Formats: sequence, C-alpha cells, structure tokens
Amino acid sequence: MKTSAIVLAAGSGSRMGSNVKKQYIELNGHEILWYSIKAFQESEVDGIILVCSEDDMEKNGSYRTEFSKLSAIVPGGRERYNSVHCGLIAADPCKKVLIHDGARPFVSVELINRCICELDNEDACVAAVPSKDTVKIITPEGYVKETPDRSLVWNMQTPQCFRYDVVKEAYDILIKKEENEGLNGLNVTDDAMVVEYFGNARIKMIRSDYDNIKITTPEDLRFAEWKERN
Ligand code: C5P
Repeated sequence: MKTSAIVLAAGSGSRMGSNVKKQYIELNGHEILWYSIKAFQESEVDGIILVCSEDDMEKNGSYRTEFSKLSAIVPGGRERYNSVHCGLIAADPCKKVLIHDGARPFVSVELINRCICELDNEDACVAAVPSKDTVKIITPEGYVKETPDRSLVWNMQTPQCFRYDVVKEAYDILIKKEENEGLNGLNVTDDAMVVEYFGNARIKMIRSDYDNIKITTPEDLRFAEWKERN
C-alpha cells in the first residue's frame, strides 16, 4: 500500500519581509523548496504531492522533470490547514501520509524513513525536538501565568505522519466545522493538533534534529546559508 508525502508551499511567507516567497528563495543554486522535495524523492515514499498557490503551479511544473515521484501539483488554501486538506484530497488513495513544510529544507532522508517505518505500529507520529529553553504560558496581558516542566516540553517540526484514514477524517471534521460554524478562535498551527482535537489517535514523538528548522525570518535564512556552505 502506498505512502505519500504532501509538501506544503502555498504560504505567502510574509514574516520573511522579502519580495520572493520564502520557499522560492535560492540557497546555493536551488530554491529552498527544491531541497525539501529532494529529500522525499530520495526516501521510501511512493509519491509526492506539492501544494502551492495557483500562480506558482505552472512554474513548479518544471520540478516534474527532475523529481520522478512528484505525482501531483495542486492549489492550496487560505491557511496552512486548508492547504493540508487540499493535499489530503489529492493523496487519496494511500495508506500512510507524511505532511511536510516546504520551508524546512534540511529534513533528512533518514528521519523520513524512520517515520514511515514507525507508522507500521502507530497511527500518528510527528518529528519534534526537546525544548532547550524554558517555556512560559502567559496571560493575554503579557504576564507569566505558569511554567510547564521543561522535560515534558517539545518543539514541533515536520514531517507529521499519519495513517491516511486517521488524519483525513480529523481534517474533514475541522473543515466542515470551519464552513458551518467557524473555528471560534482555534488557532490551528500543526497537524497533530487537528488529530488531538478532532480524531482519537495516540501521537508518538519522533526525535528529530535541531537543524530541521523552518525558514521563517531573515535570521533563519542566514543560518541556512551558513549551513549550506559548511
Ligand atoms: O506560515 P508557516 O511558516 O507556518 O507555513 C508553514 C508551511 O506551510 C510553509 O511551507 C508554507 O508555504 C505552507 N503554507 C501553505 N498554505 C498556507 C500557509 C502556509 O501551504 N495557506
């Protein structure tokens, strides 16, 4: 049965403050997105679905010649979760699905394959690293409310990986709720959260690397340029 990867590249990248969307910024001769797709091409996934904005679909068609596993390029939506839902519809039918931010170019083939293997025994597993910093929960006014035990705090990354039916069902509920009654302030920031709220699967943490950063702001880009040179 098939394993698909959904690579997300439909964001505007406004926090980068650049006129080129961050996933298309060049790093050592290739777009950031190229590195993300390449890792999945070299992994054990069977097919890759690229989700991008309608305006970039034609330009991204050139990736098809380079990456034989790129099976579909589909338009995304307003928020990340809308884009994931578009990718999930395009991925049908498959058994395992890995959802990855196209703006995380340093994902390793080893991590991807480890996640695929883990899905033989788990419904859901997500790449993450233990938090190095102490995390505070604060009040809306900006004062400290509480301090979670740091040994139990992890920072989430991607890929976030699921049995297809588990994540599709949870996302269908989320999207229906958004259409019917709105999300009432629920800020959906990753895929595990969708399964936590609208599914009922245990989600296993997969120890990832601190290098697997999401390129979001100019400092991240400086790190990425340094890492590609070294
Ligand atoms: O905005 P953020 O950095 O959280 O985006 C994470 C990933 O999700 C990026 O690769 C971005 O291109 C993608 N995204 C998307 N559709 C959106 C918003 C973000 O595919 N509407």
